[in-house]
Amino acid sequence: MPRRLTGFTPSGDLHLGNHIGAIGPIISGQTTDDTVVFISDLHALTLEHDPAQVRRRTLEFAGLLLAAGADPDACLFLVQSHVPEHTELHYLLECATGFGEAQRMIQFKEKSSRQGPVRLSLLTYPVLMAADILLYDTTEVPVGDDQSQHVELARDVARRFNARYGPTFTLPRAVNPPVAARLMDLASPGSKMSKSAASPAGTLRLLDEPGVLRRKIMRAVTDGGTEVVYEPEHHPGVSNLLTILAACTGDRPERLAARFTGYGELKEAVADAVITTLAPVRERYRELDPDHVRRVLRVGAERARELAAPKVRQAREAIGLLPR
Ligand code: ATP
Ligand code: MG
Repeated sequence: MPRRLTGFTPSGDLHLGNHIGAIGPIISGQTTDDTVVFISDLHALTLEHDPAQVRRRTLEFAGLLLAAGADPDACLFLVQSHVPEHTELHYLLECATGFGEAQRMIQFKEKSSRQGPVRLSLLTYPVLMAADILLYDTTEVPVGDDQSQHVELARDVARRFNARYGPTFTLPRAVNPPVAARLMDLASPGSKMSKSAASPAGTLRLLDEPGVLRRKIMRAVTDGGTEVVYEPEHHPGVSNLLTILAACTGDRPERLAARFTGYGELKEAVADAVITTLAPVRERYRELDPDHVRRVLRVGAERARELAAPKVRQAREAIGLLPR
């Protein structure tokens, strides 16, 4: 059975794009597929961050994933830093990764050119991601285009390690997320809806109050003209609203376009659909006891270590370390 792994970095607030593009597919596949879900708190440390916010969001993300329907009995559900094997394997893999290889990562080039002092961990972040993947013999990593180069790196490193030190790791591959919908920012529909957006105006956060969601949608940028058409190239704003409506109602954006005569009417329908989709998640989240979430994470970490520890032991011995 393929094993699929998805991580969520607590570097900003979870939004409808994460819900549709990543959380939904996890929930619908978790009973039939071998699924690993983790909160990648260590990745949040690679950029400037507020320690209290990372800690708060880690628990919030876990609660939101549970509220959305992640079942910790069906999938492996953990916080990355609670399983120290991630960082131990990270080091061993660094010893099998080229400096130039890490420097060639497009995301590193982009992120390092944007900010002031660059942390060493930003350069080695894809190697930690390789450890996340290889630790659990992951076969499939559902990622967007921006992350597929990192999965390639994990595959290259695994192949090299196996060839040089003996068969140790399963080779992973990047797969397209099962749902193709990619939601764009409401205020600037040329960019993806994102946790790290400069302004929250275009991001529909999972914990936004219904009134806030409606306001953001009513203020969404539309295109010149008045016609409701699904043409992402020429009408990105309206097409994005149709994509959101389609994702929330299980319909097709092309078909939905014909139902509306004006932008106002479309926006009202989108707001209703988004609120209906997110209300149960918000309500379940509010009812969750944080101590229950912490207990779930403790059990998840223990179960994860049962898989991770033998893998790291195998890698340690293969690369030349004396068994304890
Ligand atoms: P960041 O800006 O920090 O990269 P992000 O919003 O892109 O944050 P990630 O943590 O990178 O979120 O991604 C988590 C998951 O959510 C990934 O599987 C990704 O493909 C999915 N995802 C992120 N943004 C969208 C979006 N706008 N539409 C659909 N899926 C998305
Ligand atoms: Mg991203």
